[in-house]
Amino acid sequence: MHTHFPADRLLQHPTPCYYYDTALLDATLAEIDRCTRGEPHWHVHYAIKANANPAILRRIARAGLGADCVSGGEIEAAIAAGIPATRIVYAGVGKSDREIDLALRHSIACFNVESLEELQVINERAASLGTIAPVAFRINPNVDACTHAKITTGLSENKFGIDLGDTERAIRTAHSLAHIRYEGLHFHIGSQILTDAPFRRLCHRINELQERLERQGIRTPGINVGGGLGISYEHPDDESIPRFEPYFDTFRRHLALRPGQQLHFELGRSVVGQCGTLIARVLYVKQGTTRRFLILDAGMTELVRPAMYGARHAVQRIALPTDATPAADAPRCTYDVVGPVCESSDVFVKDQPLPPCRRGDLIAIRSAGAYGESMASTYNLRPLPPTIVQ
Ligand SMILES: *Cc1c(COP(=O)(O)O)cnc(C)c1O
Repeated sequence: MHTHFPADRLLQHPTPCYYYDTALLDATLAEIDRCTRGEPHWHVHYAIKANANPAILRRIARAGLGADCVSGGEIEAAIAAGIPATRIVYAGVGKSDREIDLALRHSIACFNVESLEELQVINERAASLGTIAPVAFRINPNVDACTHAKITTGLSENKFGIDLGDTERAIRTAHSLAHIRYEGLHFHIGSQILTDAPFRRLCHRINELQERLERQGIRTPGINVGGGLGISYEHPDDESIPRFEPYFDTFRRHLALRPGQQLHFELGRSVVGQCGTLIARVLYVKQGTTRRFLILDAGMTELVRPAMYGARHAVQRIALPTDATPAADAPRCTYDVVGPVCESSDVFVKDQPLPPCRRGDLIAIRSAGAYGESMASTYNLRPLPPTIVQ
């Protein structure tokens, strides 16, 4: 599917802004449904931290996905959008007492617990509220996701999760606590994973662990394999819907679920990444001694991924009704596309070929639906970007 940008409308709209293509979001959700419909024990939770825009969340809720939350604020946003608490799971290394109480009061489906100390605190909070907390343990499976260091989470030297070797101890402790119910095991190996191999290795690691636990008489009701499926940042139109079919097939083929065992997924980027575009205006075209800079009114405050992760987004000039030549025929110039923020890392891309640009032109920064708006900041006292949900 090709996202079409309504230039006339965008020219009237303040920039920078986020533009969301809901037809593409709906098509993406329909593809997830098609790939998982025949599996009554499978549950897909949307990782809200990727994008918590209320209009986007409501569409995801309507499609029947659950939510993966990492804060009390996200639990409240999920519920406000219409996601039932029974489909909400809650992860995070630093859950505060206030957030734990909030989750217990809403009776969420599961806490994904990241340490034994946290387990004790959840037990105490559940006791004081007269309830029982369902928990899964986030286990570090030691699987290298072969992705960016700042988004790799499944290796043992990491603040996340519990060491694979400590699994039995964690489960035994859970069984001994009066206000804890052991629900299962949780894994999340990283993000923007584009090959099958890391997910296959995760399946094999889980199979080994389950066999080890069963030899000791430990039964596990549910397995949560986290998220991490990547998207094509190079070809946002050709691969507008991520490759869900091979992704889900990997788990179907390689994960040995026990009869009645539930399987949970937590997809973030792959659900919303391609439906969002950051729209910017060209403020100035600055000719340096050797480089030509395209200075935009959007920067790292609206989209931090390039500055934070070294990420590269496709950058396009939006064709305008007043253009003399169609974009495909125009000669190309090479620009360093940069933002206005007072940081030298505020660069979207260097040496980007584009049709010749002038002040006032509209620029689309593609594949910005995930970890874009949700990570926007007010650094330099810049306002948060408005959104167009089309
Ligand atoms: C961020 C996160 C996800 C979603 O990751 P994506 O790469 O966006 O799919 C899933 N589970 C946990 C625990 C996370 O922290």
